[in-house]
Amino acid sequence: MPALPSTDHVLERATSALQRCGVDHLTEVTGTGHPARTPITGEALFDVAVSDPADVERAIGAADACFRTAWRDTPAPARGQLVRRLGELLREHKGDLADIVTVEAGKIRSEAAGEVQEMIDICDFAVGLSRQLYGRTMASERPGHRLMETWHPLGVVGVVTAFNFPVAVWAWNTAVALVCGDTVVWKPSELTPLTALACHALLARAAADVGAPADVHHVVVGGRDTGALLVDDPRVALLSATGSVRMGREVAPRVAARLGRCLLELGGNNAAVVAPSADLDLAVRGVVFGAAGTAGQRCTTLRRLIVHEDVAEAVTDRVVETYARLRSRIGDPFDDTTLVGPLIGEGAYRAMAQALDQATAEGGTVLGGGARCLEKEAPDAYYVEPAVVSMPRQSDIVRQETFAPILYVLTYRTLEEALAVHNGVPQGLSSSIFTRDQREAELFMSAAGSDCGIVNVNIGTSGAEIGGAFGGEKATGGGRESGSDAWRAYMRRATNTVNYSTELPLAQGVSFL
Ligand code: NAD
Repeated sequence: MPALPSTDHVLERATSALQRCGVDHLTEVTGTGHPARTPITGEALFDVAVSDPADVERAIGAADACFRTAWRDTPAPARGQLVRRLGELLREHKGDLADIVTVEAGKIRSEAAGEVQEMIDICDFAVGLSRQLYGRTMASERPGHRLMETWHPLGVVGVVTAFNFPVAVWAWNTAVALVCGDTVVWKPSELTPLTALACHALLARAAADVGAPADVHHVVVGGRDTGALLVDDPRVALLSATGSVRMGREVAPRVAARLGRCLLELGGNNAAVVAPSADLDLAVRGVVFGAAGTAGQRCTTLRRLIVHEDVAEAVTDRVVETYARLRSRIGDPFDDTTLVGPLIGEGAYRAMAQALDQATAEGGTVLGGGARCLEKEAPDAYYVEPAVVSMPRQSDIVRQETFAPILYVLTYRTLEEALAVHNGVPQGLSSSIFTRDQREAELFMSAAGSDCGIVNVNIGTSGAEIGGAFGGEKATGGGRESGSDAWRAYMRRATNTVNYSTELPLAQGVSFL
């Protein structure tokens, strides 16, 4: 098992990466401020200043004024230049940001670098988008008239993010919101304030370099109470919130009460169907990365394996075997040989242990994994062996998202049965089918198939590209971010009817005067 680094070593690495990104005002841990911790050792690294309500008020006020007086009137391609510069700085500081993601979220090196690459990719996308905010022209029913739609900036976008994608989700929102002419106030997870300070410093530098106003972006640091100030403020035209279903249930009615707009990206309970014709080598690799990668802490993590009974034993045996090999690769996420880093903290570990107990009580059998590791070396850190649990049916615990690496295995006889199990959970984020039967693949992607926002064939549930719209249905919240036409959520649409004739014909043939 890769040995763990000392907290001093992690601190040194974090300090130099933060300084290179332009953050050099962090204070040592005194026990009085908000501690920024690393899950690698579970210990605190810095005290971070928490924003009080007056700070949040100032941030929203400044972002709102910047929107009204400068940013919404800046031509979209010129707004794109800010995002282009941000993309350049992200390329330059890819290693630094990846280091901070590893320090704060515990991601292994290649996944942390992949997350930063996603930021770079969305910047490229948004720069192109800055010249493609297209509206439609429709045929008017009246002679001498033109009917069209135009898209305008919306206002201040409040971005609330989760700990597990501390930088990519911010970039999906911010790169697109900025080219759409919106300004942004970001409330990162209280578990990952350092990554937020680093991103903010890079964006501030990009703004200075291209002459954009500094107030296009603000960060406020704090927990739920700080987030709630964005939720309730009528100047926040769009609240884009990523996190648990519990958070969405709290936030959505409050934004609705002020008739504001919400974009929700909430929890998933993702499944893969493995059909008898599947390429099993490919399926097992896809399943193991989807279920154990990022220590089971992705919204798209594979949590349910629905496997045909003819191949169930073969697939399960191979997954359990591969999991056994992962055991020697759990540990320091900075070590290139590590495949499974730490859980974010004690709460995640307790939730995993409770879920395994409940699964057993509901008739399940733990086929492998589930034990805590490295607790002697780092008593405040939580490393676990990813677990595989065979379940007799889709019981209560299987229908819940436990944000830890537990893969429940269920079997099926007919595809119809598999689909009923697949869709029989509250969440609807990501799904996949492994099959070489085109009819099955097409049915899975059809209206009668998977009810998720992401529906894959012969790849796992996690690891989306930025070009598509990302998000899910049902309790996942219905929001879409990132590529395709997700930008429309960040703008308001005006329908324009222009009369260039000398007559005044009324629509639907109405006559008056
Ligand atoms: P969380 O819900 O605990 O917190 C997410 C964010 O919401 C944090 O910034 C938190 O401070 C804030 N928050 C929580 N309650 C709030 C409230 N009442 N008012 C205002 N703000 C509030 O989630 P987490 O543990 O950080 O992240 C894990 C969860 O996020 C999982 O459920 C995961 O599936 C989900 N997630 C979803 C996506 C997606 O795109 N669908 C992406 C990443 C994570």
